[in-house]
Amino acid sequence: MVEDNLKRIYGELPPGVKLVAVSKFHPSSVILSAYQAGQRCFGENRPQEFAAKARELPGDIEWHFIGHLQTNKLKLVLPYASMVESVDSLHLLDSIENWGKANGRIISVLLELHLGAEETKGGFTEDEITGILESVSGTDAVNPYPHVRFCGLMGMATNTDDNSRVEADFIRIREFKERLDSSFPDLKDFRELSIGMSNDWKIAVHQGATIVRIGTAIFGPR
Ligand SMILES: *Cc1c(COP(=O)(O)O)cnc(C)c1O
Repeated sequence: MVEDNLKRIYGELPPGVKLVAVSKFHPSSVILSAYQAGQRCFGENRPQEFAAKARELPGDIEWHFIGHLQTNKLKLVLPYASMVESVDSLHLLDSIENWGKANGRIISVLLELHLGAEETKGGFTEDEITGILESVSGTDAVNPYPHVRFCGLMGMATNTDDNSRVEADFIRIREFKERLDSSFPDLKDFRELSIGMSNDWKIAVHQGATIVRIGTAIFGPR
């Protein structure tokens, strides 16, 4: 079943768009069946669960952390994460920089843009993200984040069945990304646009997603 779901999604996913299989709440045995079907990139959103799975599953898995990350949980996540997609505060960003410096690592991150209507959802404003990139861009800048690789933006659309609403959210983040690309042409790593989940990934791909994060459509309900 997992194998069929993956096959179906890859059949429709344009080449070059990365599929993060979101395996949160599902046991390692289920992740292994996706692994045996060829899937190598997985996403988790809880630090404890993430660390436990990363320790016991094959070492060539590319793990993305996609949930809210408290700074006291960094040491569970950063040793294993290929990318932290959900950086949503300056406090977290500063802590990632400090961890990278202390551990001799450069951590790949996406900056989460607050999208959608929900007040509860995390993420930066556009101005905050622009400010961060201003601080690391340009030859004169003293980069405050030498141990952070800024790889792009992540966003979650409004949770609604109204596809036009979802599309409007994705258009907003795509257009913001395009403005950043023209403002900061020196930031060569800033390439990724991680948008799209089980219910809206086709809309996201249409709006230029380079990463989609799909759970339910691969693994079934949680
Ligand atoms: C759970 C989760 C997903 C996957 O959601 P599905 O609807 O199950 O595909 C994607 N992104 C984030 C940030 C999530 O927390």
